[in-house]
Amino acid sequence: MSSEFSLINEYFSSWAPACDADLGVALGIGDDAALLDITPGQQLVAATDTLVEGIHFPQGYDPYAIATRTVGVNLSDLAAMGATPRWVTLALTLPPELANDTWLRPFSRGLKQALSAHNVALVGGDTSRGPLTLTLTVMGEVTAGSALCRHNAQPGDRIFVSGALGDGAAALALIEQRWSAPEPLREYLLSRYNAPQPAVELGSALAAVANSAIDLSDGLLADLGHLCRASGVSASIDCRLLPLAAGMPRDAQSVEWALRGGDDYRLCFTVPAALHNAVPANCSDIGEIVAAGEPLAVRVIDLAGDSEEIALAELRGGYDHFAG
Ligand code: ADP
Ligand code: MG
Repeated sequence: MSSEFSLINEYFSSWAPACDADLGVALGIGDDAALLDITPGQQLVAATDTLVEGIHFPQGYDPYAIATRTVGVNLSDLAAMGATPRWVTLALTLPPELANDTWLRPFSRGLKQALSAHNVALVGGDTSRGPLTLTLTVMGEVTAGSALCRHNAQPGDRIFVSGALGDGAAALALIEQRWSAPEPLREYLLSRYNAPQPAVELGSALAAVANSAIDLSDGLLADLGHLCRASGVSASIDCRLLPLAAGMPRDAQSVEWALRGGDDYRLCFTVPAALHNAVPANCSDIGEIVAAGEPLAVRVIDLAGDSEEIALAELRGGYDHFAG
């Protein structure tokens, strides 16, 4: 690779908009910073997620899939705010052995494809040498005052999820060859891992319906726990109601993946009972927000109908980077 400059040019600024009024890009890649035009009446919404090789995807993973996964993971955070993603910057740390066309070409194609599917512009970034790490910052817009937050769940709200749970954990078990699945389940799970589809349209539609929302990255229990903690409420969910992938048997393992597996990138949201009918049909009602007990807890009704209370303090993320 000749230089950092030509690398940026060849794989990123060649297709990113230099200036595009429809995309809100007054000045794209090439200067010290980008200039973005925010729609009047909207709030700017920003989020960042980092994916590190060997932690967030396996060593030596396919570069196209790394790109589409990174975009899906990041856009999911904006979807959970009810926001429309518009712009991203990419901080790319590459080991020297990957700074070549074999790796960068498919990576760049995956990035372009995944961003253009959501009309999102790449407007800047940074490129450096080191262990393979991708940090995407995504910026978007939401009508001022109407963002979906975690802190407003109310007792009596029904709890919904936007699609099958446990897919991320099942896919990782496939990739790590700890488990096998027949087609077409296998292919479905791999595509859910490689290119999680952020629920952007659902998120914006929910702004008028839901009291609170979070995206599922750490696993349902951990993320519902975050939502309950932020809202000062408890919750009750029923494992018999958890949506699973078509063809996935409902057993102890699949329910464990649905409850505690990470990387699902579905939305979990709460809706006042009166607005229950306004929720799109592809979402599943899995339980209810209840008044805060002492301590705050999630009650889990298992497949046999028995229930267990799990205090929020016992709920951890699927992967805690600093767990002792
Ligand atoms: P500076 O030293 O001023 O930060 P850089 O050489 O890092 O400039 O970047 C030059 C331009 O290329 C900037 O507009 C920056 O946003 C963009 N850029 C750098 N790396 C990337 C990348 N991986 N993806 C997209 N844009 C990038
Ligand atoms: Mg820079």
